[in-house]
Amino acid sequence: MHPKNILNADLHCHSVVSDGTLTPEVLAERAKTNGVELWALTDHDEISGQHRAMAAARARGMAYLTGTEISVTFAGETVHIVGLGFDPDDAALAQGLRDTRGGREQRAMEMSESLAKAGIHGAFEGALKFVGNPELISRTHFARFLVETGVCRETPEVFRKYLTEGKPGYVPHRWATLKDAVTWITQAKGVAIIAHPGRYNFSANEEYALFTEFKAHGGCGVEVVTGSHTKQEFVKYAETAKEFGLAASRGSDFHSPDESHTDLGKLPFLPGELTPVWELLADRIQQ
Ligand code: AMP
Ligand code: MN
Ligand code: MN
Ligand code: MN
Repeated sequence: MHPKNILNADLHCHSVVSDGTLTPEVLAERAKTNGVELWALTDHDEISGQHRAMAAARARGMAYLTGTEISVTFAGETVHIVGLGFDPDDAALAQGLRDTRGGREQRAMEMSESLAKAGIHGAFEGALKFVGNPELISRTHFARFLVETGVCRETPEVFRKYLTEGKPGYVPHRWATLKDAVTWITQAKGVAIIAHPGRYNFSANEEYALFTEFKAHGGCGVEVVTGSHTKQEFVKYAETAKEFGLAASRGSDFHSPDESHTDLGKLPFLPGELTPVWELLADRIQQ
């Protein structure tokens, strides 16, 4: 029996159902090979890969939690809220996610127009070639097109030069509210978690407001150990978890063998003094 935090849980990654490049089955195989003991697939604004991921995990004898990563607009910024352990057949959650995905095609066409003004043509059609789910065209797919055509060498360079605020190809977008995202997850019997808090451009006051409002709406966890955090951020958000009485999560945010620097299951363990989110979800884990 492990001490509670010494578990190779990877509770954040993406498949072709959103902006990853691998299928749920190939991801499950990779997670198993890398020693993952508890896995969740968390596609952006989507749960249509959940039954496949669950079956693939079960076939490999790997414990599974249902997952998603919801795009939220808070204080003018995009924030991501991970949901874990919800009922994958919950109708209100499915409808909320459908509404959240709804504006993506129009946004993508506007992104393409903006890139065309900067001399990059055919980006909508180019990005679509990389899309696995027609309802989920994302900036990542545009980034792959700009790498394919040689405009940039790799996807982080695309985000530095394009697709972010103030750069060509950026189109502001209004996602779900924090309250709605947390409510959809918790009413579907899941647990809501603030994803990679170190990645937002918030002042200390705005970050405090995010955590305070998140808790008030019923959120219970925060990602501490994630592929998107530095070692210093592991320490900082371990403190934040304790300050706000939140459980801690761990996940690589793996998207692709060619792009992600953190592979599935290859992260430090959670600091021992934190309550892991899987303790809150013990009765939702599918064995
Ligand atoms: P979207 O939901 O369409 O706004 O796309 C957001 C996705 O873009 C994120 O989930 C990441 O996969 C990717 N992304 C955002 N910023 C960066 C970055 N700086 N470098 C690489 N990928 C990024
Ligand atoms: Mn992504
Ligand atoms: Mn994210
Ligand atoms: Mn993610």
